Amino acid sequence: MIVILKPDTDKTSNEFKRFVNHLENLPDIAVRMHEEIGQQQRLTEFYLVGDTISIDPEDIHNFPVVERVFRVSREYRVLGRHNDDVRENYFDYNGVRFGQDEFHLFAGLCAVDTKQHAEIMMRSVSELGLNCTRMGAYKPRTNPYSFQGYGKDCLPYVFELAGKYGIKVIAMEITHDVHIQEIDDALENAGNPTGVMLQIGTRNTQNFELLKSVGRQRRFPVLIKRGFGITLEESLNAAEYLASEGNHNVVFCLRGMKTNMGDPHRNLVDFSHVPVVRRLTHMPVCVDPSHSVGSRERGPEGILDVMHVAAQGVLAGANMVLADFHPAPEKALVDGPQALEMNELAWLIEDLTIARNTFLERVKLAEKYDSN
Ligand code: PEP
Ligand code: MN
Repeated sequence: MIVILKPDTDKTSNEFKRFVNHLENLPDIAVRMHEEIGQQQRLTEFYLVGDTISIDPEDIHNFPVVERVFRVSREYRVLGRHNDDVRENYFDYNGVRFGQDEFHLFAGLCAVDTKQHAEIMMRSVSELGLNCTRMGAYKPRTNPYSFQGYGKDCLPYVFELAGKYGIKVIAMEITHDVHIQEIDDALENAGNPTGVMLQIGTRNTQNFELLKSVGRQRRFPVLIKRGFGITLEESLNAAEYLASEGNHNVVFCLRGMKTNMGDPHRNLVDFSHVPVVRRLTHMPVCVDPSHSVGSRERGPEGILDVMHVAAQGVLAGANMVLADFHPAPEKALVDGPQALEMNELAWLIEDLTIARNTFLERVKLAEKYDSN
């Protein structure tokens, strides 16, 4: 059961204390409080877990501090959409709103290799009016002898450049909980010129201890990739680990499934699940066409498969696209074969704008037919 209090409820008031006292005395119920501090207001929610069947929602609703009560109708308690659930489908981070009604392109380097490449990338992103990018510092690699990313050594110049080019959010994968502190320290040292969205890669989707550590911190939002060999439900439960530890600012990313049935693509594209995740949860949904397709092949009409697939995700309602670019793909230390080139960034932006506008047209069409 989820209880939402009236905005800006005073936690020192007697009414609040009386309410908390009531919850704490409910038999066989564990109570967890969650607070979201937004720009305009502070929202307090209570999550009641256990034998909630015996609780009458009306009794809870009668407390003056309570705005709304609803029963949890599916297993993703925090991130799931439930009957009568009026919680928001967005969050704000560093001046950028991520939500089910928003759209952002995160074009950037799969892995930071040189300062010069990071600069070319961020300058291009910024010149084309974007304020988000991807920059891989910690790379999980299949082969232990492959380049593992420059880790914390590259963070000072990555963050400094992000500040220089007005980048607000960088998606950056972490593979160990110590990386959270490294990123935090590097941001502090640089004077917090930008923000970071911590990325959980597909190989770590079910690394539960990492999920718990990332979920316990609330400074950074999280982008969690779907596990490439597990069901959607298992991956959504992995996302719920983050939320159950306290961090509700989670974006869910589809990136293709590992099976030879997707050949010659690197993974079998699973973007038909975009509407499913939007329906089941409050999370904004991202698609990663680069790791899905894994090459720069194009159709006979000249459109790259990466762009086709990205557009398919956006037509289905994706709220974010994560795409690999590189100023010199042949020199990239990771995933060069799938990287788009800098002169393709404007093209991708225009192509995705068409797809996004078409999605919005499709929504209007659905409304027209639904009301008949
Ligand atoms: C990445 O985005 O750099 C990455 C490694 O992706 P994935 O975890 O989906 O393979
Ligand atoms: Mn990659």
